[in-house]
Amino acid sequence: MVLNARLDHRDPLVFDTHELGRRPGALQRLTRTVDAPRDFGIQGVIGVPEGAPVELDLRLESVMEGVLVTGTARAKAEGECVRCLEPLEHQLEADFQELFSYPDADDRGRPVAEPGDDAEDDEDRLFVEDGLIGLEPVLRDAVVLALPMQPVCQDDCQGLCSECGVRLSDDPDHHHDAVDIRWAALQGLAGSLGDGEKDEMSGAEAGVDEKQEK
Ligand SMILES: [Zn+2]
Ligand SMILES: [Zn+2]
Repeated sequence: MVLNARLDHRDPLVFDTHELGRRPGALQRLTRTVDAPRDFGIQGVIGVPEGAPVELDLRLESVMEGVLVTGTARAKAEGECVRCLEPLEHQLEADFQELFSYPDADDRGRPVAEPGDDAEDDEDRLFVEDGLIGLEPVLRDAVVLALPMQPVCQDDCQGLCSECGVRLSDDPDHHHDAVDIRWAALQGLAGSLGDGEKDEMSGAEAGVDEKQEK
């Protein structure tokens, strides 16, 4: 694994620690607005659209074994309600903290031949590479953790009507049984009115006939 080939100082999610230096206790605060990378969120559920602004507040701290990064990412995520499928927006605020180790020392300060060589512990470890740190994997994990797994448009979203698919929050009194009963009652009423009209009609006709006879 060639770690050094991965980071590019032109990448907006790569930070240079040369200015911070390696003296333990040195601090640097940074703010940067970056474009969201592709697939930034929970795929198919909710995420920050690619290219949307992500505001970063960062604090870099030089410690014995590397650089400790503490930060907050803010962005607007978009998704859809899992109950009613309406589009929704979510103001994302993700906090994170991560240690980037110097590749020439493990966490006890002992020299290490190559970062990510063979030890399984190293799989999740991140390294300062040529003085650069790549924040993307840290940010990705933090954003996924901060997003709702089951986003809803509102806490009490009632979802969709199982019979006709109408969004129940738009029509809270929506009820199919009640409509059926009313309809049946109207049909019965219409039937009895029809009979009465026929009787009156025949009576009127009879009256007209009588007048014509005079
Ligand atoms: Zn909903
Ligand atoms: Zn319905």
